[in-house]
Amino acid sequence: MAPRKEDASRFLPVTRTLATLTEAVTHCKGCPIHETATQAVFGEGDVRARLMMVGEQPGDHEDLAGRPFVGPAGKLLDQALTAAGITRETAYVTNVVKHFKFEPRGKRRIHQKPNAAEIFACTPWLVAEIEAVQPTVLVCLGSTAAQAILGKAFRVTTQRGEILKSPLVPKVPHVVATMHPSSLLRTPDPQTRELELARLIADLRVAAEILGSAATLTLQ
Ligand code: SF4
Repeated sequence: MAPRKEDASRFLPVTRTLATLTEAVTHCKGCPIHETATQAVFGEGDVRARLMMVGEQPGDHEDLAGRPFVGPAGKLLDQALTAAGITRETAYVTNVVKHFKFEPRGKRRIHQKPNAAEIFACTPWLVAEIEAVQPTVLVCLGSTAAQAILGKAFRVTTQRGEILKSPLVPKVPHVVATMHPSSLLRTPDPQTRELELARLIADLRVAAEILGSAATLTLQ
């Protein structure tokens, strides 16, 4: 018989508000990543945000600061959001995995992609977070977030910018996937980077347009 997969459900509080979840995640031992990370990094933003963005996991800066998207990738995301007509303050940002997974290399900590068991273990936190915020639009940043939310068959390279529904969180009306801003930072060629930034902005505009249409419908 295959071993039973354990997730982090047993660490979640009974009453699930953003405040109780943020406190409870600091005690999570649902997978081994917490053993080397500095702290859990939960999402942050307006509890009533209509736009929620989900990345892969906190990075080096985020692990130290205890806040999501505060490093170089976060700054690039801010730039792309502004260009798409969205202010970060109106959104809620988080990650699929709440602890930083890395490999020490000298004084540096090199990002390691979380594996399927770690993503599975951490998913109850993300689902609880999405249920607490109830966004109108969920934007998956990168393939780890997109596949966690839209399924393993999802390909961000070919399906980015499409308006979809998620089997994981069926109450969210719209899900859009795009590249993670950190992948742009790893692109050495400046022209390709500019092109990829324009594509990221275009995908974020899809989310902005949904929010604009939803606001118009609410006012009618
Ligand atoms: Fe818990 Fe997620 Fe951290 Fe693993 S990564 S210990 S499941 S919060």
